[in-house]
Amino acid sequence: MKTMRKFGLGLAALLMPAAAFAQDTSAPDIEMWRLDCGTMILSDIGPFSDGHLYDGETGTMTVGCYVIRNGDRYLLWDAGLSGQMLGTSVTQWIFTLSLDRTIADQLGDIGLTPENITFLGLSHYHDDHIGQASDFAASTLLMNRRDIAAVRDQEMPSAQAALAPWISGDAESVDFGRDHDVFGDGSVMILSMPGHTPGHSALLVRLPETGPVLLTGDLYHFREQIENYGVPVFNTDRADTLASFERFLQIDQALEAMIVIQHDPGDIERLPAFPESAR
Ligand SMILES: [Zn+2]
Repeated sequence: MKTMRKFGLGLAALLMPAAAFAQDTSAPDIEMWRLDCGTMILSDIGPFSDGHLYDGETGTMTVGCYVIRNGDRYLLWDAGLSGQMLGTSVTQWIFTLSLDRTIADQLGDIGLTPENITFLGLSHYHDDHIGQASDFAASTLLMNRRDIAAVRDQEMPSAQAALAPWISGDAESVDFGRDHDVFGDGSVMILSMPGHTPGHSALLVRLPETGPVLLTGDLYHFREQIENYGVPVFNTDRADTLASFERFLQIDQALEAMIVIQHDPGDIERLPAFPESAR
């Protein structure tokens, strides 16, 4: 195994131009902020396990969005609840949803506007991840092609409205069906983790000081699901979900990464409190 790896590196060295080595001497200049993109109070978290693991339990989920700067380019990862919920509270099914501040408003605290966001990365097409997407119609959409196709071809009026600029072809998007290297330097990778939706994705961010961080998307909604493999009843594919659980934890262990579950209130403190950033 050791010999194989050495050989691999040697081959890469032969194939790489000298300029690539010059760039490698300085690590990418990266930082990440966590934005508050809403709160969801759940009257019943039973549907988050098709094995009846959580029947009768209630819960609170926070909605996290993340801004990642690489040099002078920015990625917004997930777009939270709709801005129309600002200052109100809406109950749908088991969820009571609320939003204190919009993403655009919070960006102002760190000297940014939506126009600064180069890439809009979406983990999947559910409403609590795309609510404010249309505020970023000038950004290039990064979303797995299987989720884009689902929104385009299926009966999803609210997702079709939220993603209209890209579905119509007016706004730019990048077509990918597996992992995607956001900035082209390996520092931020969209990881294909299907099962919650057909094209569901997680995000790996390699921070220079903090180390690798894994943002879950909705692969997990709360910590307990890592331990007992709770698969939501509304996931599009159970087998894909289990395979994604396995891959995600393999990556976590191999890279000694920090997992941040985007909907778990207990995970907020894993990153610095906004407007501080993780370096
Ligand atoms: Zn969600």
